[in-house]
Amino acid sequence: MSDKRKKTFEIHDENDKIYVLDSSALIGGYNPNLINALHFITPDIFEEVTDEHLRTILSSAVSNEILKLRTPTQASIKNVKKAAKNTGDSVALSSIDIKVIALALDLKNENQNPTIITDDYSLQNAAETLGIPFKTIIREGIKQRFIWIKYCTSCKKQYPNTYPEKICEICGGNIKRRVLRKTN
Ligand SMILES: [Zn+2]
Repeated sequence: MSDKRKKTFEIHDENDKIYVLDSSALIGGYNPNLINALHFITPDIFEEVTDEHLRTILSSAVSNEILKLRTPTQASIKNVKKAAKNTGDSVALSSIDIKVIALALDLKNENQNPTIITDDYSLQNAAETLGIPFKTIIREGIKQRFIWIKYCTSCKKQYPNTYPEKICEICGGNIKRRVLRKTN
């Protein structure tokens, strides 16, 4: 193993490890064939991969049983959506992101210890809320969870994060999202 690879992934030779990969991990160059662990991805993400080289890597990992494709349960999808709504991350999470966390939640419910590999902050935030650990391959992982609110950029009126409109009902200004506070 080269030093360069160690530095990039900081993950190696973890026999009993289970990793759930999101698209940012694959885009970031994570190669499951090089990591001694069992990996899971959702069929959505596998189908999303159009790059031929990456497809070859993933297909080989699948045939070597290093990588497994698995669809998350509806029950877990529902739980992830609920948790993301509470922290205010549902705006930033795609349905594909939600399924990644739901897949990890399914594994956790089977008494396994999955870790999500992702560079996506909202995904990390929602995963942490559900007690699912994550690792990043490019950026530093967040240490805290964030609570988001929406507010008017003109009159500063605050709205709940679930507020669906983009225009302030008081002054017609633009509504934006920001971190209200961090929780540990
Ligand atoms: Zn306003």
